[in-house]
Amino acid sequence: MDKTFQEEFTQIIKFEPPLYKQRHQFVKDLVEKYKPKKVADLGCADCSLLWMLKFCSCIEVLAGLDICANVMKEKMHTLSPLPVDYLQPSERSLTVTLHHGSVAHKDPCMLGFDLVTCIELIEHLDESELKKFPEVVFGFMAPSIVVISTPNSEFNPLLSRVMSYRHPDHKFEWSQAQFRNWALEAARCYGYSVEFTGVGHPPTGMEKVGFCTQIGVFLRKYPQTGELVQSEKPTETVYKTLLFKTVKSKENTWKKINKNKTPQHNLKNPPTSKKECRILNCMNQNSLHAKNICNSVLDGIHGGLNSSFSFFNSLD
Ligand code: SAH
Repeated sequence: MDKTFQEEFTQIIKFEPPLYKQRHQFVKDLVEKYKPKKVADLGCADCSLLWMLKFCSCIEVLAGLDICANVMKEKMHTLSPLPVDYLQPSERSLTVTLHHGSVAHKDPCMLGFDLVTCIELIEHLDESELKKFPEVVFGFMAPSIVVISTPNSEFNPLLSRVMSYRHPDHKFEWSQAQFRNWALEAARCYGYSVEFTGVGHPPTGMEKVGFCTQIGVFLRKYPQTGELVQSEKPTETVYKTLLFKTVKSKENTWKKINKNKTPQHNLKNPPTSKKECRILNCMNQNSLHAKNICNSVLDGIHGGLNSSFSFFNSLD
């Protein structure tokens, strides 16, 4: 690369929107294209991608996994249902779960997902974790779609302040060929096809460098083979659950019981059945104690690693 040309760009490359937002938008677009119902985000960190996906109406189950409980706890309260989710329930149910554990381990709670996202995760894995990763994600979890993003080391010379790796915790950063070889091998072993793309365009005239963030989208070639595969899968739980939240759909909540009354109307008229009582109680609690919800979440945050709490997780 011409040094003067390179120096000129190291001064000016700034992505707009920022690269992390472009990566998350990429996942959102994928969700809108394939409409998965169950999505798991591995290496979910501060849950910001999960928060964004919460608003995709096709998703009914969202799960996050990270090896660092503290980073997940920072903003996990943003995943809690809002009072409006109960007062104006949508057409779909949404269950959000956060797990503390490693992608190097298999846990049955990670089975049954349609889409698994691994955004800027693999470069944080050490050699032994990276070796186990394809078997856990493609072999065990075996979702229809896997999306993996990782830095493209060929872009690094264009970034100011990047001397070696982009982050001190990165164990490696791959060139386009290295990522390609690894991804093609994983896809071949576990029956996936893979398409390569990325976000963060290189400057005009430097297209060979590739995207700043390289992305592989893996699509499972064959339908899952059902019982035999399932029976071989371990059932032992290894992850710790940090958070579990469910908002039932409109159909499953008050509308089902009382078609003609608004929630306000219901509050003025005493409930007649035990079930109605529980639902209205739940709604009241939500509208009157929104603050308490926040406080409970904060309690949970301060409650330590083993804490597992849930609100309104079943009305039926
Ligand atoms: N996916 C996030 C951030 C990724 S940073 C985003 O899109 O912004 C990488 C994350 O992977 C960190 O939160 C780190 O704690 C987590 N991580 C590292 N090793 C892991 C492992 N073995 N299993 C699960 N998560 C891991």
